[in-house]
Amino acid sequence: MAARPLIAGNWKMNGLQGAAAELRRIIAGARDLEPATDILVCPPATLITSFAAIARGTTVAIGAQDCHPQAAGAFTGDLSAEMLKDAGASAVIVGHSERRSLHHETDAEIRAKALAARRAGLLAVACVGETLAERKAGGTIAVVGGQLAGSLPDGATADTVAVAYEPVWAIGTGLTPSVGDITQVHGFIREQLAARYGGDARGMRILYGGSVKPGNAAELMAVANVDGALVGGASLKSEEFLAIAAVYL
Ligand code: PEP
Repeated sequence: MAARPLIAGNWKMNGLQGAAAELRRIIAGARDLEPATDILVCPPATLITSFAAIARGTTVAIGAQDCHPQAAGAFTGDLSAEMLKDAGASAVIVGHSERRSLHHETDAEIRAKALAARRAGLLAVACVGETLAERKAGGTIAVVGGQLAGSLPDGATADTVAVAYEPVWAIGTGLTPSVGDITQVHGFIREQLAARYGGDARGMRILYGGSVKPGNAAELMAVANVDGALVGGASLKSEEFLAIAAVYL
């Protein structure tokens, strides 16, 4: 079973209430894309409730960018997966490289967050990817393999987990790996998922992320085992985000 593509936008720490206008433009454009791909917008947590209200009944889903492993408790400033679900999210990004590096998140913590997402009924979009130094040292496959083994929970299925391969050096830089490199890493990820989850891994989406733009999306999305994209900068502009999703039409 081929995975239905997913185009996910990670707005990071960008967007005030006025950004609802951008979401409305995405929703309007996404109507034409509905048969071809799932669309997910992950705004800052402050916007999830209002965005979810706007997106209710449309083809656009709303997601979060992180969650705490616990459902509730004395964790000042944190948000649980249950809270995000309650706010209207249907997915959450876990283990983004900015959280791995800036917040020192470990694979074990990311796995706990992915489990929390499942507990709350959210799709976890789990990010993996090597740094430039790791790539130059020939360590890409070992790094990605270690992150997959450590960050993904047992018993993952296509409904509970999507993987995003995001080479750290490609995020926000305008650089992308070659088609050959993406083919190799996505093929490796598919093998790892099949070995660990068997048939349950069929249909599990493997997204590519890192400087996806309208101009390179068609080439990147055509690579074997690329089932969509996690888009940062270009997801902030509705016309760019929609143009990326339109490669599946
Ligand atoms: C990201 O941060 O997840 C990302 C892919 O960013 P960009 O598209 O801007 O490289």
